[in-house]
Amino acid sequence: MSIKMIVGLQYGDEGKGRAVHYEAKQASIVIRATGGSNAGHTVVANGKKYAMHLLPSAIIRPEVLSMIGPGVVADLQVLTEEIKQMRDAGIKVERDNFVISERTHITFPHHKQLDRLYEMLKSNKVGTTGRGVGTTYEEKARRTNLRMHDLLIDSSELKNKIAENLKVYNVLVTEANKLIEQGVYQEDKFPIITADEEFEYCMTYKEAIKDYIADIYPILDKAIEKDELIIIEGAQSFWLDNDHGDYPMTTSSHPNASGTASGAGIGPTLINEVIGVIKAYSSRVGNGPFITEQKNEIGDKIREWGHEYGTTTGRPRRTGWLDLVMVKHTKNPSGLTSLCVNHLDTIGKLDKINVCIGYKYKGQVIKHVPIDKENCEPIYQEMKGGWNTEGATTFEELPKEAQEYIKFIEEYTGVPVKYIGVGADEKRTIIK
Ligand code: GDP
Ligand code: MG
Repeated sequence: MSIKMIVGLQYGDEGKGRAVHYEAKQASIVIRATGGSNAGHTVVANGKKYAMHLLPSAIIRPEVLSMIGPGVVADLQVLTEEIKQMRDAGIKVERDNFVISERTHITFPHHKQLDRLYEMLKSNKVGTTGRGVGTTYEEKARRTNLRMHDLLIDSSELKNKIAENLKVYNVLVTEANKLIEQGVYQEDKFPIITADEEFEYCMTYKEAIKDYIADIYPILDKAIEKDELIIIEGAQSFWLDNDHGDYPMTTSSHPNASGTASGAGIGPTLINEVIGVIKAYSSRVGNGPFITEQKNEIGDKIREWGHEYGTTTGRPRRTGWLDLVMVKHTKNPSGLTSLCVNHLDTIGKLDKINVCIGYKYKGQVIKHVPIDKENCEPIYQEMKGGWNTEGATTFEELPKEAQEYIKFIEEYTGVPVKYIGVGADEKRTIIK
């Protein structure tokens, strides 16, 4: 057995959740490694649709140990509600199939207010989901934030830590409220938050969460020693990575492969496979460059056929053609061993499909991604679409044009396609 990682290579929502759930069939552990409740991972299995934000996408498989890793930040309320929702839907979420690292950072109510404050002050909006994820990472880097372990410490010590963490927030909002009073910003005032309030927040959700908090390292050690299959579940994507993506239109964590390994607490030499997930087209939520965006009838069709509306926010996603220059760029930084291409069914509904194979950039033609993406114009290769993937269960059974499309992706990127999604249901997965 081995350790496999699943990461997104575009702008998120490539169908990582679906790939993780599929791969988890033979796994002993699935560990969600990065991001917070801004992620939305969909799994369609047993004729039902499940949307996960914090819980690993393997939670539907009771025989697998689902883990939340140290690289994740978790909103206690969202986590508690998600556990409840899953249980109400008949999904097992017990200590023997779910643990959360004691090092996982906590998202507090004031983190959401901070998100709103930063968006208010910024002239160039990131378009965050407003879930306090980036601001949790920020306080984690400031080394005042609290972790799951803190839920288990003595109450007075916990309250002191909360008070310490809230200091900067309360100074900031006091100043921000003055600007709102002066009419500089038209925004609701920000609440001063007391340590008692956030202590209450902890106590409200502690009961539902405390039994899952664990030291994950001995559990991982044991599985690694026994050579069991471990899946590391990425969130967001390469191009939203704070080091390698479209900074500043990125997320605050490191969802590239190395950051994902770090978030899980598993070293790079132990990872045998890095599976990069892409869609057969592109989509993006929020602002930022999108070279192949189709703000037209084609983009609308892709949105409708692919149901491109955010799992977390319901926001319509921006849509466009597959950008292979961007995908190829991620190959070495991610150490990709294979690709999973989803939504081959969706893109095939168009008779003519464009794929971006280069950019016009400052009077030149280039085949790499420059830092100033906004100066790139796409160069397309037209491909024949109009295929129907229904009924196909093997690569050979796919229509010729659909096969050509996959082969073109492989040739251009130099990465083999191992998994193909031809429908949202897990059963509609083709292994190549
Ligand atoms: P994630 O954030 O990467 O896990 O992806 P999301 O779950 O946010 O978005 C992917 C969406 O596409 C979900 O609604 C999936 O059910 C759906 N999906 C995934 N793969 C396929 C596919 O091959 N075909 C179709 N039609 N839908 C798919
Ligand atoms: Mg998603």
